[in-house]
Amino acid sequence: MSLEASLNRRPEIAEGLLAWYDRHARVLPWRAHPGAWPDPYRVWLSEIMLQQTTVASVISYFDTFTRRWPDVHALAAAPPEEVLAAWAGLGYYARARNLHACARAVSRDRAGQFPRQEAALRHLPGIGPYTAAAIAAIAFGERASVVDGNVERVTARLFALETPLPTAKAALRALAESLLPPAPAPAFRYGDFAQAMMDLGATVCVPRRPRCALCPLQEACAARAAGLAKDLPRQAPKKARPTRRGAAFWLTRPDGAVLLRRRAEKGLLGGMLEVPSAGWQAALPDDGGGDPATDLAAAPVPADWIALPGVVRHTFTHFHLELVVWAAELEPRPRNERPSGEKWVRFEELREAGLPSVMHKVARHALNHLAPSPPASGK
Ligand code: SF4
Repeated sequence: MSLEASLNRRPEIAEGLLAWYDRHARVLPWRAHPGAWPDPYRVWLSEIMLQQTTVASVISYFDTFTRRWPDVHALAAAPPEEVLAAWAGLGYYARARNLHACARAVSRDRAGQFPRQEAALRHLPGIGPYTAAAIAAIAFGERASVVDGNVERVTARLFALETPLPTAKAALRALAESLLPPAPAPAFRYGDFAQAMMDLGATVCVPRRPRCALCPLQEACAARAAGLAKDLPRQAPKKARPTRRGAAFWLTRPDGAVLLRRRAEKGLLGGMLEVPSAGWQAALPDDGGGDPATDLAAAPVPADWIALPGVVRHTFTHFHLELVVWAAELEPRPRNERPSGEKWVRFEELREAGLPSVMHKVARHALNHLAPSPPASGK
């Protein structure tokens, strides 16, 4: 089947896909019941959470957020630290700050109503081209082409496009859009079509072993006809991620509390609580960090710091991280009684403190190597 032949079958592709979706749509907490329009607040919240994150990881966060903040006004009124703490563990923390800024803008400037057009949605904090298209199509039924990784894969296969990603992105967007009726068509189910493409990519046209025998598009699929399905989309070789190194400082008090601090608003993990750390935020060379004198110069207070055995490893989008964990107990006065700008949290409350995943790893590493001090009595 040629590209030309696949292009000629576009109307039947859309029709077959929507019929399949009516029978096989995934049940997800942000989706509306059949025949009902979804709540734009829930669509927006889910789409922000799903950026770079799997459906399985998002579901419990979505439930927590919607129980705690059932509409955009409630979320807008929440203190930003509470929103960040509730987001902890979901990663890409700039999303949480933008989420809150967007809720405030919609609540304050638009009486709680999200705009329905892609262009207007893109003026809101944290809403880029993909998210704007998804909200416009799913929440409002607007003509918008929604292209995520799943849709790129389905489209590359459907049209047997062999150009590797990421070069192929623009061509895939154009091909995906070509599947929609050319002019806005009130009867066309744009939101369902977008979700059907996503669902097909997530459940049938999966990366390694596409289940072509179950696919509603098998007759029109050029990659299947050419025997290329599992080889597409092609990927340009990925650059190796560099490794950065740094230090984290686990400072405890005799009453069983540990020192945390809030990171600067801007940058990686901006505004999140952390076990005080240093030396890894900037783009250091691979061999940066790891020098004890350099590490200890960044310690939050002078103390008898000891390096715990091993390192904590974590992978961010653009680099791997290795942290040496230094531990010390707060001495009575005068040397280090009052580190400033910090927060003491008891060990048993760490889980609820809103730490990002890398800092939970640091806490586990420290607690595995150190027996917590028994609480001081009567003080
Ligand atoms: Fe994907 Fe196979 Fe369906 Fe083609 S026929 S869209 S490769 S699952």
